[in-house]
Order: sequence, then C-alpha cells, then structure tokens
Amino acid sequence: MVQMIPVKHAKAIMGRLRHGADLLEEITAICREHGIRLGRIEAIGAVKKASIGFYDQQTRTYAYLTLVKAMEITKLSGNVSIKDGEVFVHAHITLADDTGRAYGGHLAPGTIVFACECIIEAFEGPALERVFDEETGLALWDIGGTETELKK
Ligand code: ZN
Repeated sequence: MVQMIPVKHAKAIMGRLRHGADLLEEITAICREHGIRLGRIEAIGAVKKASIGFYDQQTRTYAYLTLVKAMEITKLSGNVSIKDGEVFVHAHITLADDTGRAYGGHLAPGTIVFACECIIEAFEGPALERVFDEETGLALWDIGGTETELKK
C-alpha cells in the first residue's frame, strides 16, 4: 500500500557546514535549531572520511563501510521527520574518490565534512512519525488512516 500525504513548501534555508563537523549530526542540529520537523535535504561538497551503511534485508541489520580518504559528495539526498518524538534525519550519500569511482549508501555518523553546501527545504504538513515496520524491520513512516491513502 502506498501512503502519501500532501505537504506544502514552508521555507528553505541554505548555507555551508563547518569544516570537521560530523555530517549527519550537523544537519540534524541545523534542523532542530531552525524548527524543521518535516522536510527534504540536498547537499554537495567533500568529506575527509565517511561511514555508510547497507541494510541487509535477510538479517535485518546494517553493515557499515568506513572509508578513510578524501572524497567528493556528488549527491546527498535526505528527509526530515520524527522518530521517538525527536527530529530525525534520514539521508543517503554518493561519494566519488580520486579515480572517479563512486560509493554510496545510508549516511551514518562518522562522516566528516571537509566542505559542504547544504539546502534544506521545510514543509508544512502533519508530523511524519517513524514506527517499527514488521515487513522490513525498519523504522518507517506511519501514515495509516490519518490522511489520504492511495491504493496501488
Ligand atoms: Zn537509509
């Protein structure tokens, strides 16, 4: 079942992150400071090192890959919602090394900013809350019943 809700553009903020900051923690802190509880994130830049996750669908656990080298952030794409009552950022990242090879995955703590230009778009809409999903073992948005449900 597809679950979608309408959201409305509220505001956008853009700027650069601090050199040496933890990428995921920094974006989360910015959302909290600016009162953004629903939104989307886009960024480009470079990192000094990275930690990216891959969700094993069989074991239902994340395996993490740590890359200790300078890389370009060719794309960071994410969203902002609520988990356990707190602002929660979920982002995926694609990184390219000095040979142009790309790595990608679920952005994890431990990814350190060299430079990063970030745009965060805030939406108005009902709070999207993450709850445990039996089918996947993941904390997914629970929209059930409160808003428009579209059947596939
Ligand atoms: Zn993910």
